[in-house]
Amino acid sequence: MANSAAAQAPREAMEFDVVIVGAGPAGLAASIRLKQLAAESERDLSVVVLEKGSEVGAHILSGAVIDPIGLNRLVPDWKEKGAPVVTPVREDKFLVLGEAGAMRLPNILMPPLMNNHGNYIGSLGALCSWFGEQASDLGVEVYPGFAAAEVLYDDNGAVVGVATGDMGVGRDGKPTDNFVRGMELRGKYTLIAEGARGSLTKQLIKKFALEKADNPQKYGIGLKELWQVAPDKHQPGLVQHSFGWPLGNRTGGGSFLYHYGDNLVSVGFVVHLNYQNPYLSPYDEFQRFKTHPAISPTFDGGKRIAYGARALTEGGWQSIPDLIFPGGALLGCGAGFMNVPRIKGSHNAILSGIAAGEATFEAISAGREHDRLEAYEDAVRTDDIARDLKRVRNVKPLWSRFGTIAGIMLGGIDMWLNTILPGIGLGFTLKHRKPDWATLRMARKSKPIAYPKPDGVLTFDKLTNVSFSGTNHEENQPVHLKLADPMIPVTVNLPDYAEPARLYCPAAVYEIVTDEGGKPRFQINAQNCVHCKTCDIKDPSQNITWVCPEGGGGPNYSGM
Ligand SMILES: Cc1cc2nc3c(=O)[nH]c(=O)nc-3n(C[C@H](O)[C@H](O)[C@H](O)COP(=O)(O)OP(=O)(O)OC[C@H]3O[C@@H](n4cnc5c(N)ncnc54)[C@H](O)[C@@H]3O)c2cc1C
Ligand code: SF4
Repeated sequence: MANSAAAQAPREAMEFDVVIVGAGPAGLAASIRLKQLAAESERDLSVVVLEKGSEVGAHILSGAVIDPIGLNRLVPDWKEKGAPVVTPVREDKFLVLGEAGAMRLPNILMPPLMNNHGNYIGSLGALCSWFGEQASDLGVEVYPGFAAAEVLYDDNGAVVGVATGDMGVGRDGKPTDNFVRGMELRGKYTLIAEGARGSLTKQLIKKFALEKADNPQKYGIGLKELWQVAPDKHQPGLVQHSFGWPLGNRTGGGSFLYHYGDNLVSVGFVVHLNYQNPYLSPYDEFQRFKTHPAISPTFDGGKRIAYGARALTEGGWQSIPDLIFPGGALLGCGAGFMNVPRIKGSHNAILSGIAAGEATFEAISAGREHDRLEAYEDAVRTDDIARDLKRVRNVKPLWSRFGTIAGIMLGGIDMWLNTILPGIGLGFTLKHRKPDWATLRMARKSKPIAYPKPDGVLTFDKLTNVSFSGTNHEENQPVHLKLADPMIPVTVNLPDYAEPARLYCPAAVYEIVTDEGGKPRFQINAQNCVHCKTCDIKDPSQNITWVCPEGGGGPNYSGM
């Protein structure tokens, strides 16, 4: 009874100038820029950053080859200050893989924007931890372990902050003895920097009709393992990308392999989520990729030390939603600033954080609050982010329309034209048409795929790999994968699409089990979830909504 009363109690509220959701590169860059500007003009400015991971960086998964344009602008003396971005790129390699062979594309054929010289290889998670320290040193209040679960609005419909989720709610939805009511964090402006397919971002996009109807956001799923390889296999500074096998020509995606640090190799595989065959398993494609004769020798004598997965945005320039709404803005990959052919988004995430920080500071300095940050939207649409994304805007739609071989060739021509005739290129912008959840073919029209069994040395089963993500959730809490209709997985998705969640989920969260009566049942092992958001994107019935579990739950990535 006492617990129920606690659950009804009003939440405590804290007031800030700026509330930021997400301690990724975008959110932290915004917080740092705000505090830098406040220090320069000697004024007080309170800034808070909420992060759902147990610590800053715990939910960050990236390649990562980092274009330092944003870092240089935000913290020009980042080298002196010890930013953990230490391995300069020395060599770029592009491979086209067939089942048994590989062909290296001459670097001279690649458009200059694909060249990685001047970039650095490192862990984006480690960089975010470092950003978190810089932000705290400047007086930003950074709170890891707190998920923003709800957007707060005023009577006029403007966003006035967020509320953290209640802690200690049982699986049955009732408060337990550990119940703690969530907090309201109210601000003059609220910056949402949740990364790809943010849960609050999704609500805001819907409420303020921010998405472009004819260019829905597109996504990929990126799976990654971190390996410590034998010293004689390590080539510090090597950046290798491939496309082709094991994916067929109609399925977009490819691999990355980055050598850096102390004999570390970051190996990953991206599958575009507009794939059509419901039997496709991105995880198993990744495992199969590692067995290619041009790839596997790198891992001889090495060991996999971490695993994880995360969705990335792929819609590019034409899918960027309206970025502002009364009281706040969308930043980073939540808005979709990823450059797909470059497989880079962290530089634009940082640049968007800087732009949002500057626009917000200007507005607050002018005595404004809870209105639209037009200066932020203008900056993104005219400055470096626009230049970076506009010139590659047709690459992804060409790939989707013409398949890997022809699509990449046409995309290459478009990128070259954009290099020779800046701002002109093909002269038009192709649309994305369908959202990714609408691209699956029916199972009866699709071919099942037989994947090889993992060997436990180079390739691993999903559950073993999930244990290398460090993911952990309080078991006694409501399931954070919400089904609008609990019957749809069995009555629609299973007969029509062989329930693809079993295969696209990289963490074995979804299973079809057979009840004692012989009936199929959809089982959700929510504790395995690595917060990649793929189910929220790809479920063909759009029946799954990912919401934040208790703060601190989820993967515990280190150095990802
Ligand atoms: C496999 C893969 C490889 C990539 N390779 C590269 C690369 O080589 N180079 C490159 O530049 N980019 C790369 N990217 C893209 C890059 O990682 C992103 O562009 C970048 O991380 C986006 O930064 P962000 O701050 O917008 O979001 P994120 O980095 O996703 O950070 C968002 C943060 O917000 C937190 N959060 C989300 N929702 C909430 C909430 N409701 N409450 C509290 N906290 C919340 C998350 O836990 C997370 O810490 C890659 C991405 C993937 C998936
Ligand atoms: S349940 Fe959804 S968000 Fe979690 S790991 Fe699986 S696909 Fe990703």
